[in-house]
Amino acid sequence: MPTIFAKIIAKEIPASIVYQDELVTAFKDINPVAPVHILIVPNVEIASTNDVLPEHEQMLGHLFTVAKQVAKEQGVAESGYRLIVNNGSDSGQEVPHLHIHLIGGRKLGPLLQARD
Ligand code: AMP
Repeated sequence: MPTIFAKIIAKEIPASIVYQDELVTAFKDINPVAPVHILIVPNVEIASTNDVLPEHEQMLGHLFTVAKQVAKEQGVAESGYRLIVNNGSDSGQEVPHLHIHLIGGRKLGPLLQARD
């Protein structure tokens, strides 16, 4: 069963794609938490970091090259931004298709809130 991200990559459902090549796709998060919130996604379906294989290493490095480019194009390269990869239940990962959140355009505050 393809994930919603696989359908976006295949252009079967609409999304605001800001970058795509043969390895990765970047598109605007539908529920942004900051003025800039882009998801950078491998075109190949990898459920989470737990499913990463040595053969993915080159593509995973490319994700960061694309993150750098997208950050520049979105105007946050100099002001700063955060890259987040959620993995599994405790992280709150919703979509089982590995992705980097690129978030910026405002002060982002501490990485984590203290436990209550
Ligand atoms: P995560 O919790 O790390 O799995 O993040 C999943 C992200 O995907 C959330 O920030 C959602 O807002 C986003 N999302 C879910 N469906 C879509 C969609 N159709 N288009 C764009 N972003 C989406």
